[in-house]
Amino acid sequence: MKPRAPLQDLLRCRRCGKNIADRRYPLLIDATNPRCPKCIFKSLASRHLRKSGSWTALRDLFVRQGFRCAYSGCHLVLGGNATIDHRIPKSKGGKCTIDNLQWVTGEINDLKGCTNHDDFLRLCKAVSSCSAVQ
Ligand SMILES: [Zn+2]
Repeated sequence: MKPRAPLQDLLRCRRCGKNIADRRYPLLIDATNPRCPKCIFKSLASRHLRKSGSWTALRDLFVRQGFRCAYSGCHLVLGGNATIDHRIPKSKGGKCTIDNLQWVTGEINDLKGCTNHDDFLRLCKAVSSCSAVQ
C-alpha cells in the first residue's frame, strides 16, 4: 500500500493555482480557501504596505523574526496565528512602511490594539513582574 501524500501536496492555491507544497514557511492550510505562502504575503502587503509588489519585504521580515512573535516569541503560522502589527499604530500617525511593521500573534495584536510599541513593552514588563495575588 502506497503512503498517502500529505494534504499540502494535493491542494492548489485558490489565487494563483500553484501547488501548495512550499515547506519553507510554517503554513496552516484552510481547505475551503487554500492559499500559498506567496499569495498570503501578497495579500498582507496589499493591505499593510499598500502595494502588493513589496510582499518580499514582509516575507523577509517573517524570516528575520525566525517565524516568531515579536513580543511573545511564540511560533507563528501563516494562515493561522500570524498577523501584522504596526509598531506605531496608524491611528497615532504610524506609517505603512516595513520599518513600522512586525509579525505578532493575533492574540497579542488584539491585546496591543492601538498602543504604541514602547508603551506596550512597558505594560508587558509591568505585568510580567507583577506580584499580584490571585
Ligand atoms: Zn498562491
